[in-house]
Amino acid sequence: MRQKADEWVNPGMYTRNVWFTDKDENQALSLKYTGEVFHDVQSPFQRVRILESPKYGKLLTLDDMFMTTENDEFHYHEMISHPAMMAHGNVKNVLVIGGGDGGTVREILKHEGVEKVTMVEIDGEVIEACKKHLPSIAAAFDDPRLELIVGDGIEYVKQAAAGAYDLLVVDGSDPVGPAEGLFSVEFYQNCYNALNENGILIAQGESPKFNENAFAELNATLRGLFGEDKAPVSLFYVPTYPTGMWSFQYGIKGNINMKSFADQAAADAFVDAKGLRYYNTELHTASFALPNFVKDLLK
Ligand code: SAM
Repeated sequence: MRQKADEWVNPGMYTRNVWFTDKDENQALSLKYTGEVFHDVQSPFQRVRILESPKYGKLLTLDDMFMTTENDEFHYHEMISHPAMMAHGNVKNVLVIGGGDGGTVREILKHEGVEKVTMVEIDGEVIEACKKHLPSIAAAFDDPRLELIVGDGIEYVKQAAAGAYDLLVVDGSDPVGPAEGLFSVEFYQNCYNALNENGILIAQGESPKFNENAFAELNATLRGLFGEDKAPVSLFYVPTYPTGMWSFQYGIKGNINMKSFADQAAADAFVDAKGLRYYNTELHTASFALPNFVKDLLK
């Protein structure tokens, strides 16, 4: 579990060599930042800060955790979106839980076949901070296909119509504070019900190297609900999360094979047309190949 960072230093005191540290009890990742704090608001849910790193550009932190940076956000946002979109091939109705920075809906809405995306983010302060300071990430909030709801995603899926969605994306933070319930069996049971018979669930899956227990427990929950061979895991590299190795975890309700494509030529053409910088079809397939120690964690 990630811990509180060191005592927040007064940024006015320093002009150089100021570090923000995201850590658990054993290891940490630090990024130097410029000393300038663009946004620092304690919302009812968490402390929302926008800082700037010389290497990674402007970045969002929630409480004491890195969430996203201008420089590497595409690793996460392309990989949370496009593999499921390409494997399914006919996604029209999407529910996104969390994702307040806007990067996930930006990527999903690049697909012209998508008719509607409902995004439920608990903290309006995250949305406002990102619109103001991270406009390249919060770039699709004006898309007419997006319905943006500020509210609790856990409550939202409880009352969602059965079989409503082709794709359900859980773009939440670590299992602390408002996101704790985003790791419960009850929440994923409700997600399962909200998906249609060919639906796909994808969730921010934690790290098999940084927080093994949360990673393995989430997969056990998904295997229990969707089936033993219906909860594949993909890995991707994200430099600004501790250890750099992170995962997305899936729940497949029908018979879609996540390693393949509804139409590979169309997927390749999409990658070129949209100028994607992380996702491609080779990487899509490869991201489901797991090191043996990760396979062991999932047994
Ligand atoms: N997209 C990101 C990235 O690039 O790594 C990080 C995700 S971050 C924006 C996760 C979001 O989930 C936060 O904005 C947080 O407020 C939201 N969240 C946490 N618990 C939630 C809940 N119960 N319902 C809806 N949103 C929630």
